[in-house]
Amino acid sequence: MRTVEFEHLRPGEILEEQARKSIAYLPIGPLEWHGPAMPYGSDPMVAHYVAVELAKQTGGVVMPTLFCGTERERSPETLDAMGFEDTAQYIVGQDFPSNGMKSFYSKEDVFCLVLREFLRMLIMQKYKLIVIINGHGAENQSYAVNRLCVELSNETESKIISVSSFILPDGVVPEVGHGNCVECSTLMYLTDDVDLSTYPPEEKKLKSCEWGINDLFTYLHQPNEDKTVQGDPRTASKEIGKYYLDAAIQMGIKTVEEEYARL
Ligand SMILES: [Zn+2]
Repeated sequence: MRTVEFEHLRPGEILEEQARKSIAYLPIGPLEWHGPAMPYGSDPMVAHYVAVELAKQTGGVVMPTLFCGTERERSPETLDAMGFEDTAQYIVGQDFPSNGMKSFYSKEDVFCLVLREFLRMLIMQKYKLIVIINGHGAENQSYAVNRLCVELSNETESKIISVSSFILPDGVVPEVGHGNCVECSTLMYLTDDVDLSTYPPEEKKLKSCEWGINDLFTYLHQPNEDKTVQGDPRTASKEIGKYYLDAAIQMGIKTVEEEYARL
């Protein structure tokens, strides 16, 4: 194959690859605030990269990235873990009052309709396996994606699964997060878009509620005492990024190959 990217392929090439391996990857994720140092398209860009690496290994094609994602209002418990004094305020996803600009979050019902329509069109193309590469870890997004996977796998001829682009390697502490060291590292590995000088010098710890970035511990309501980011993005490196991306890709390949073998 010249390329796995669908938009570059001619009809003959698309059909030939489909006959060889009937897999279509659909990377998704919203344009979103990830702190001042990271690009707005971080989640969809990581999803696209993982999709391309998977397709190179498993066969199949990668659809153009769907820059679409959803978030919900934060609970008082989560706002408390993030360090907010006022835990009754209305905050959606990572759109904190101090950010300066909003993320492109679709409402949950609209997100489901858009994703459903893209899946319908792929089902019409008769792909046996459709793999959503989900770059955005929001609980309501994962829930909505999984619901569509179950419904459409049972009501159509295609099997639809979801693979996350940020799976943890076995046995490692949950160091993933939003705009923290691990995520910042993955973007450093993939792009030149990260600028760590947008943060103050390293002595001053970064409070989640002030920067719009978090560890997984925050979402699990287990923050540290001062509610600062433990996986400090200022310690990010390309090497860390490569380690986590490779792990996600290896796990993704295993999942897709197992699913395809079952069809
Ligand atoms: Zn992200």
